[in-house]
Amino acid sequence: MTSKKFDPAGDIQDLWVFGEYGDVNPSISDASTYTFLDPETLKERFSEEIEGCFLYSRHWSPMNRYLSDALARLEGTGDCAVAASGMGAISATLLQLCASSDEIVASRTIYGGTYAFMKNFLPRFRVSTRFVDCNKLDAVRAAITPATRVLYCESISNPLLSVPDLPALAELARERGITLVVDNTFAPLILSPARLGAPVVVHSLTKFINGASDCVAGAVCSSHDFINSLSDVNAGALMLLGPALDSLRAAGIHKNLHTLHVRMQKHSQNALFIAERLAEKGLKVSYPGLPQHPDHERMRRLMNPGYGFGGMLTLDAGSEAGANRLLKRLQEEKVGLLAVSLGYFRTLFSPSGNSTSSEIPKEEQAIMGLTDGLVRFSIGLDNDISRTWERMLGCLEETGLA
Ligand code: PLP
Repeated sequence: MTSKKFDPAGDIQDLWVFGEYGDVNPSISDASTYTFLDPETLKERFSEEIEGCFLYSRHWSPMNRYLSDALARLEGTGDCAVAASGMGAISATLLQLCASSDEIVASRTIYGGTYAFMKNFLPRFRVSTRFVDCNKLDAVRAAITPATRVLYCESISNPLLSVPDLPALAELARERGITLVVDNTFAPLILSPARLGAPVVVHSLTKFINGASDCVAGAVCSSHDFINSLSDVNAGALMLLGPALDSLRAAGIHKNLHTLHVRMQKHSQNALFIAERLAEKGLKVSYPGLPQHPDHERMRRLMNPGYGFGGMLTLDAGSEAGANRLLKRLQEEKVGLLAVSLGYFRTLFSPSGNSTSSEIPKEEQAIMGLTDGLVRFSIGLDNDISRTWERMLGCLEETGLA
C-alpha cells in the first residue's frame, strides 16, 4: 500500500471555495457583524461558540476562515487563525502560552521585532526569555528550566539563515513538556515545521505568502484546540488583543497563496544562481543551498522536494560603509530596491544590523555573528537572472568588492 505523498501545494489546490453566485473566488464578507433571527440563538452562540457561526469579525469572518483553512493545509496542521500582522500572530501566541513567571527559550538569531517583544515587552508581564544558539542542543537543553513553557525559533533564521534541527528541537520540547513554536516566514512550502514535530507554526504573511508587498498580515497554524483557545471570547489572546485581519486583505492573500508554489520555485532558482556567482567570485555569501553553508546537509534532509532552498541570501560587504555604497549602487542600477521586508516579486535588500535587526544590541549582534557589513537580499522573480547578475557584478566591481 502506498502512503499519501505529502503535498501541501496540492492540498491547498484541492480546497475549493466558491462565492455566493458560483464565483470562482469566495465572496468577500463586507461586514463587521452578523444578524441573528432571535435573541435566544444569539445568547446560545455567544455561550457555546458554535463552529461555522459568525458573531463579529474580530472573532471570525468568512474570508478569514477560508484563508485560515488554506494555510492549515499549507502547514499540515489541524487548524489556523489569521492575524493583522506577523507580530500580531507571534505576540498573541506567546501571550496565550505564557503566564506571569513563565520563561521562554528562544533562538538568538530571530527577527528583531520578535527579539524586542521577548526582551523588552514580555518582562512587563514577568515573562522572561533566554536567548541561545539553537544549533547547540546542549545549550538549549541547559537553558530549559521548570518554568520554561516555550521553545522558539525560525525555520530559516532572519537574517543569518541558519536552519535548526527541528526534529531534534521538537523531541527535546516534547521530553520537557514545553511547546515548540516555529516561525516559518522564510520557508513556506520548503519546510513544514509541523510535519517535523512543531505543534505551533507562525507566519508573517506579509512576506512570501502574499508576495506583493501590498499588505501586512500574519497567521498561527496549530491544532484545533490551540486555535480555539486563541479565539476564545473569554480568554483568547487573538480575540482579546484584537489583531483582526481585514476581509478584503484576506481575500487578496488567499488568491496569492494559490501561486505560492510557482513563486517559491522561481525565488529559489534565482537566489541559487546569484549565490553561486557570488561564491565563485570569492565573496562572503551565505545561502542554505550552497554546499559550504554550515546547515546545508541538514536542510537537504528536512526540506520538501521541489521548492529549492528559498529566496533569501546574505552578503558580507566587510564594513558598514562598504555595504552602504553597494546598496546605493544596486538600487541605482535597478537590481532591486533598498527596502526592508522580503518575499516581494522584486529583489529587496537592506543592511540588517541597522534595520530589521537593529533592536538587537550590537554586543548581541556580534555574538550571533551579525556584522556591520551584512546585506540581506530577498531575491525577486526576475525573468532573466543572468541579466540581473551582470548588473550586480558591475556594482560589486565599482564598489571594490569584486
Ligand atoms: N517573522 C519574521 C521572520 C519576519 O521577518 C518578520 C518581519 O520582518 C516578522 C515575523 C513580523 O511580521 P510582520 O511585519 O508581518 O508583523
